[in-house]
Amino acid sequence: MNPAAHSHAIDLHCHTHYSDGSLCVDQLLSHVVENGVKTLAITDHDSIGAHLEIAERALQTPCEIIPGVEISCQFGNREIHVVGLQIDINNQDLNRFLSNQQRYRRQRLSAFAEKLEALGIDGVSEAVAGLSPESVTRTHLSQILVSLGAAPDSNRVFKRLIGRKGKAYVAAEWPDLQEVVEVISKAGGHAIIAHPGRYQLARRQLKELISQFVAAGGQGIELAYPNADPALIRWLSEQAIAAGLHGSQGADFHNPEWRWVKPGHFAPMPSNVQPIWELW
Ligand code: AMP
Ligand code: MN
Ligand code: MN
Ligand code: MN
Repeated sequence: MNPAAHSHAIDLHCHTHYSDGSLCVDQLLSHVVENGVKTLAITDHDSIGAHLEIAERALQTPCEIIPGVEISCQFGNREIHVVGLQIDINNQDLNRFLSNQQRYRRQRLSAFAEKLEALGIDGVSEAVAGLSPESVTRTHLSQILVSLGAAPDSNRVFKRLIGRKGKAYVAAEWPDLQEVVEVISKAGGHAIIAHPGRYQLARRQLKELISQFVAAGGQGIELAYPNADPALIRWLSEQAIAAGLHGSQGADFHNPEWRWVKPGHFAPMPSNVQPIWELW
């Protein structure tokens, strides 16, 4: 564990088995509470299935749950993730939008499967067609490829085959950043730029991203998450304050076997930034 990782009661980014998290809702809730989290946003990729389940079961949760989602979108030719927090999970436009994303995700994985089979890896299409999560991702595809023996581990699957520079990469065609911010805002939510350090964008591009995001109505940016570069976070904090963005934080937890990511554990957000939860 990174020595700079403090424990926080608020974690606003994590996944369940509705997308590429390994845990179901009940397992996730036990796990985050064991890690000291008292307020949790569940933010599956292009799915609010966990929140619909919590509502349907009228679940008495052991911590406060913030309705959230993580939506993939296009910023020029780059893929960006936008977290929506405090969304109305019954909003019809949001639900329709997410169904389209889920359909597109299945089509994209099928396109990956065809390319992988053309490279001589058999059985991928069948395995992809059998995936059960509501929102399928390249994480699931990498698990399939490891089980088929195409590479020894997930890291190497991404590097060799399905990452941006991999042999079987299929470029995504997500909706534009503007459309995604709008769908979140119209569902009563706050849009947040997720893990800004993970896109390999130069500072000039990050400035442009923030500027377009604010113009579209975005309200926050993640400034505390595991393995964030402290110098980049200091610079982003200044940009966020100048642009009027609030700060958000979250571990982006997926799987307890990934020992380096624990719910609620990351370096603290810079103290001069206004946290997004002050808007709630
Ligand atoms: P997708 O949204 O289908 O493009 O899948 C993206 C997901 O794949 C991300 O949310 C990560 O959880 C995972 N991912 C992306 N890049 C890597 C990588 N290099 N190694 C492991 N997992 C990755
Ligand atoms: Mn993921
Ligand atoms: Mn993400
Ligand atoms: Mn995430």
